[in-house]
Amino acid sequence: MRRMSLSARVAVYTSAVVAAACLWATERVVGQESRTGTGGANLQLVDDLVVGNRILANEGILDGLGHISVRHDQRPDRFLLSRDLAPALVTAADLVEYDLDGNPVNAQAPRGYQERFIHAAIYRARPDVRSVVHAHTPSVLTFAVSTIPLRPIYHMASFLVPGVPMYEIRKVAGHQGMLVNDMRTGTALAQALGDKAVALMRGHGYVAVGPDIPEAVSRSIFLDVNARVQLQAIGLGGTVNYLTAADVGPGGGQTAQPSQTTQYPRSWAFWKERAMGR
Ligand SMILES: [Zn+2]
Repeated sequence: MRRMSLSARVAVYTSAVVAAACLWATERVVGQESRTGTGGANLQLVDDLVVGNRILANEGILDGLGHISVRHDQRPDRFLLSRDLAPALVTAADLVEYDLDGNPVNAQAPRGYQERFIHAAIYRARPDVRSVVHAHTPSVLTFAVSTIPLRPIYHMASFLVPGVPMYEIRKVAGHQGMLVNDMRTGTALAQALGDKAVALMRGHGYVAVGPDIPEAVSRSIFLDVNARVQLQAIGLGGTVNYLTAADVGPGGGQTAQPSQTTQYPRSWAFWKERAMGR
């Protein structure tokens, strides 16, 4: 076998060192502490929030916009959310701790999302909710501008059985624009959501909530599948046979049940592998 030249061997060695450094850096991206602190939140929770951001971006639920948050495990009157950043780029260092008025706990915190009030108002109104997703996913947006209701097509979307309310921002007196960018519009959205798992936002997108990050993420992904398949089923013509409460059984479709399997739904590891590349 032909021996490698010295320069070739140096190149191979350098590549290996760079690859190892990149791998280490990737690990650190998830594991490092927030620049402004996460208030002593559980490190697994912090990692899951970063992974949740990456999964939702990788699965096409979030683009450069939209966000996911988690209620603080030590301080239920606070939550964690990325600074103003595309979800695919979020690391632990980008997480900011907020109170339930949408104010950063640390005055030195970087600029936040304008629509962080969505999260603040829902956590304030719903003690059972520990993770919130806000997205503009095109498939779901279709139903946010239509009189055709979004309804459960299959068992993985049984959380839609109790109904999907529509938030109409025009009803918030004196408000201009489509953004939920203060507590008044956030509170109105939380009221529209009520005790449900999902609320559509007319001309904007939706919010999905869950009892933990994996459940809020999985609901967002299955919501997208449901919306796409429902649109196709309607297009076929005939009668669409939607799921009913009887199909999902007692307690089925409730909004804040613990994850169906263990703490992590089975698909979480699969989505995480695809999103994080390891
Ligand atoms: Zn939005």
